[in-house]
Amino acid sequence: MREPEALLRLQDIDLALMRHKKTLAAMPQMRKIQAVRAARKKLASQSRQIMGERKDVLMDLEENEASQLLLHEHVESTQARVESGEANYRNLKDIESQLTSLAKQIEKREFQHKELLARLEKIRIAEKNAKSLDDKLCSEGEALIADLKEQTADIDRDMRKLSLDRESVLVNISPEVRERYDGAVKRFGGLAVERLRGNVPSVCRVTVSPSVFGDLKRGPAIAECPYCHRMLVTEGMFDLDE
Ligand SMILES: [Zn+2]
Repeated sequence: MREPEALLRLQDIDLALMRHKKTLAAMPQMRKIQAVRAARKKLASQSRQIMGERKDVLMDLEENEASQLLLHEHVESTQARVESGEANYRNLKDIESQLTSLAKQIEKREFQHKELLARLEKIRIAEKNAKSLDDKLCSEGEALIADLKEQTADIDRDMRKLSLDRESVLVNISPEVRERYDGAVKRFGGLAVERLRGNVPSVCRVTVSPSVFGDLKRGPAIAECPYCHRMLVTEGMFDLDE
């Protein structure tokens, strides 16, 4: 395969691949798959937040229990002082008020403990819900992917064949032309190469002036369009004149 022909074939292949990719991206399953992915991502971040909250609550519970233990020890030692008869009539009042204050503190800690346990329960339920929602999203995503695969089997097959064709076509194209082509594809959004038909390039369709026509005739088989600056295949266009 001659290089100009290979270049035009390469463009045909790339345009076909682009069309297939567009079709795939526009499949309704694709949008749904992306929505499922986004939902799972959001859920994961929520789950991390819930996990952080659980850590905090567990730490608060630990602190609360340690503090309750200390208060109970304090109560016991104070009562032991009374029972041992160490406390006399004078400081008995102080001891009583001390015990009252300790009882109040214990009560407060017990109340906090209940609240913490309730929060922990709520967190557990939230974690469970998040897990089952994620499982649901996961199987939903798998079903969508399977459905998409089934419906796009023809496109997939064609794309694989086009990719193989592309490899064999590229063998006939020099690195310099390849580089020019890659640059032009980016610049023109795919339609990088045109062909001279008579005295009109096939894409921009600006009629070539006689002097430019003469230049093109003397120039390389893969020139550049003087109007739109796409790659311009001129080979085979002048045969009739000769
Ligand atoms: Zn042009």
